[in-house]
Amino acid sequence: MSPSLAEIAAGLQGYDPQALPAGMVGEFLARLTQPVAETEAVPLREALGRVLARDLISPLSVPPHDNSAMDGYAFHGEALVAGSPLQLQVVGTALAGRAWQGTVAPGQCVKIMTGAIMPAGLDTVVPQEFTRGAGDDRIEIPAGVVARGDNRRLAGEDLMQGRPALPAGERLGPAACGLVASLGIPQVEVRRRLRVAYFSTGDEILSLGEPPREGAVYDSNRYTVHGMLTRLGCEVVDLGVVRDDPALLEAAFLRAAGEADAIVTSGGVSVGEADFTKAMMRQLGDVAFWKIAMRPGRPMAVGRIATGGRQAVLFGLPGNPVAVMVTFLAFVRPALLRMMGARPEPEVWLRARSAEPMRKKPGRTEYQRGVVRRAADGGLEVRTTGNQGSGVLSSMVQANGLIVLHHDQGHVAVGDEVDVMMFEGPL
Ligand code: AMP
Ligand code: MG
Repeated sequence: MSPSLAEIAAGLQGYDPQALPAGMVGEFLARLTQPVAETEAVPLREALGRVLARDLISPLSVPPHDNSAMDGYAFHGEALVAGSPLQLQVVGTALAGRAWQGTVAPGQCVKIMTGAIMPAGLDTVVPQEFTRGAGDDRIEIPAGVVARGDNRRLAGEDLMQGRPALPAGERLGPAACGLVASLGIPQVEVRRRLRVAYFSTGDEILSLGEPPREGAVYDSNRYTVHGMLTRLGCEVVDLGVVRDDPALLEAAFLRAAGEADAIVTSGGVSVGEADFTKAMMRQLGDVAFWKIAMRPGRPMAVGRIATGGRQAVLFGLPGNPVAVMVTFLAFVRPALLRMMGARPEPEVWLRARSAEPMRKKPGRTEYQRGVVRRAADGGLEVRTTGNQGSGVLSSMVQANGLIVLHHDQGHVAVGDEVDVMMFEGPL
């Protein structure tokens, strides 16, 4: 049985829902969430971004044989004498995919192509371009260009038969998919995809296609959240904009809890919010309402909503477009990864020098939108994108990462190093 919110809270020292340190949110959510249990087998091409359900043990070694890393000549490395050239007679050719079968006597060598199996007993390859012709079927290796064992790839140096090739919880990227293929494995067992329902709340929120109206804004959160969930590999159930009406909110929450593993909402959780969102969350589930010591994104609701014997984890995010993205990246994303069965990701943060002073009060975590670039001296430098208002979505587009000013940190001076959570990498 999963612990109640009260039990989780009781186990966290210094838990204060009215001033929750950002660092405690992750711990709380880790106790609230569990990986989905169901798994499925998928063909390798559909496995990209999916989470491996079991350790993958190598059924064979890669490479399967010792082979050459270069086009050149394979020979007995023990014949090398320091300071002297070596002359060898070429007695055959080993091609990639077609092994050379003969035996090689002292004073002899075999012409070999990259990837060709090393002829029996030979341990060294001299690259073609280092050798000189020395008459009929003879080469000379000048002194000092190779050492014994050079340019030979060992059997199993990439993957060894019987050993773990990938651990359970690995989120399969392009490299991992290639690695699985290198083992000759056509399909893998992965966790089922996480289903996440999303809706926006607020009477002032317009869906695309609706005409503009005074005091109303178009729903951008549905698109940022859709994008972030899709990048994570979740199945997104889009429940649209839900008006501030108890019956409509109840229907949306119950449908979401019935269909999805997690529910993400935006809006309606701030203090003094005159709407029914919070009341409905409280009525339908076990939900905590937090004020997190952070900026942007202070209010957030988390908990569980149950219906018809199943339950979904609720992430009630604030309404401001930047606050939605920041709280998603900081808290929801790691929690969803856990629910997906993924191993915790090492945080890939950069350290960069601040190109400007930043005012910061100790006692809360601040996320500033930053642009990291290489400075003239080759070091990494970061500056903020200007207007840091929590509704200014253009600042998220300009930024390539979030500058994270930690809970206890104070003002930042020009040249001080700061942590930056980068948005994207190439793999
Ligand atoms: P709230 O958290 O509901 O008080 O909303 C804070 C601010 O975010 C208000 O200015 C809202 O108009 C705006 N907002 C709320 N939801 C959305 C949304 N889905 N898309 C764009 N802006 C929103
Ligand atoms: Mg509102």
